[in-house]
Amino acid sequence: MGMAADFDVVVVGAGPAGSTAAIRLSELGYKVLVVDRTSFPRVKPCGGGLTIKALQWLPHSVAPVIEAATKKLVMGVKTPFDEKTELFQSDDYICTFVVREQFDKFNFERMIDAFVDFEENSGLRNISERSDSVELDFGSKRITAKYLIGADGANSVVRKILGVVKNFSRGFAIEGLVPYAKLDRIPDAEFFFGYVPNGYGWIFPKGDHLNVGIYTWDDGVSLSKDLLRTYCRSRLGIDELDHIVGFPLGFGGRRFVPTSNRVLMVGDAAGFAEPLLGEGLHNAIKSGRLAADAIHSAQTNVGLSGRAAYRKAIDPIVADLVRCDDMKKFYYNNMDGIGYGALKFPLSRHALMKGFAAGKTMLEITNQFMLSPFFSPAKPKSLQEYLSLHQHPGAAA
Ligand SMILES: Cc1cc2nc3c(=O)[nH]c(=O)nc-3n(C[C@H](O)[C@H](O)[C@H](O)COP(=O)(O)OP(=O)(O)OC[C@H]3O[C@@H](n4cnc5c(N)ncnc54)[C@H](O)[C@@H]3O)c2cc1C
Repeated sequence: MGMAADFDVVVVGAGPAGSTAAIRLSELGYKVLVVDRTSFPRVKPCGGGLTIKALQWLPHSVAPVIEAATKKLVMGVKTPFDEKTELFQSDDYICTFVVREQFDKFNFERMIDAFVDFEENSGLRNISERSDSVELDFGSKRITAKYLIGADGANSVVRKILGVVKNFSRGFAIEGLVPYAKLDRIPDAEFFFGYVPNGYGWIFPKGDHLNVGIYTWDDGVSLSKDLLRTYCRSRLGIDELDHIVGFPLGFGGRRFVPTSNRVLMVGDAAGFAEPLLGEGLHNAIKSGRLAADAIHSAQTNVGLSGRAAYRKAIDPIVADLVRCDDMKKFYYNNMDGIGYGALKFPLSRHALMKGFAAGKTMLEITNQFMLSPFFSPAKPKSLQEYLSLHQHPGAAA
């Protein structure tokens, strides 16, 4: 690459999107600096539901930090008249669970192992784009790079400074922890609709506690700790939750169009969380990987711009977000009738579970609905290694 820039690529944000991009670029031989406003480990509010499709895009096995895996999912709905639940079961694993503090620290360490430079700096105040480079102004210092990857999450400063994600919108989620010691039995993972307008409540199992949370994709709905406690009490008979925290999710990626040759936005900063279930880790990891590959393509193909390479690369993400957004409108508008009915219909239930185990996106599951009986379970290395580490009964239900 050129002579003048300090780095080939600067990545702002060392979450799943940023660390994945940085590791990939470093492995491809680029000189990479990652800047995060905080050191690791750090708290990131998140249910830590890491799907099979997300595992497939990670640059390394994360088996040591997977705390649980499941083949079962309770789907519930509360209407003004009653509460209904259905147990969705699969022959194969459909989701794993991590604690974000540990997961992000583990990825951070792999990033340092991959010879990525890291700087803790919360002072990013301006960005200047030139035709062949980008300059980042941190007040006390300036750093130049050939490319910038904006991976700084739902409240992205890169996005705010450059105004590069036109249709960005926010969802919100709040979560807390319930230690197993306070419970008589460990429940299955669940999604429960109807407690939260345009959203749901969830229960995810971890090593020694449950992660319990409430989510909405609707920025007109305000979530409260009291609503979280109400959901927790009605499902678990207990309303004491530790470490209650909330954070926005980044949406709007269905209309995201890269406009810069030098700045690539990834993960929640680009609005790539999907609004139907609020899954953000998959697209964060995937877009990090695709942004790194797009930079490499632009560098190695004369006449191919970073913008064109990245625009083409994220086509599958955008198409999946369109499908999830359209399903969201149908599903949440018809929650206590045809929406829940369609979800628990045996064929859709079966297709969903087969699709989740096969690591398929919602677009792939719905497009290939009739082929779903033939989907084979994916076997990402992280899951294989996790299962071989936890062969005793009860480790993974
Ligand atoms: C309560 C909650 C529960 C969720 N549960 C799930 C779930 O179970 N499964 C799932 O798939 N998704 C879930 N999500 C969504 C998921 O957490 C996000 O989609 C995911 O973290 C996005 O990854 P990212 O790398 O884009 O951003 P982040 O993980 O947010 O990482 C961004 C990084 O940028 C850094 N940063 C921010 N600003 C600056 C700055 N100015 N300068 C330098 N660095 C900066 C931050 O410190 C952070 O390290 C949940 C979200 C919430 C809020």
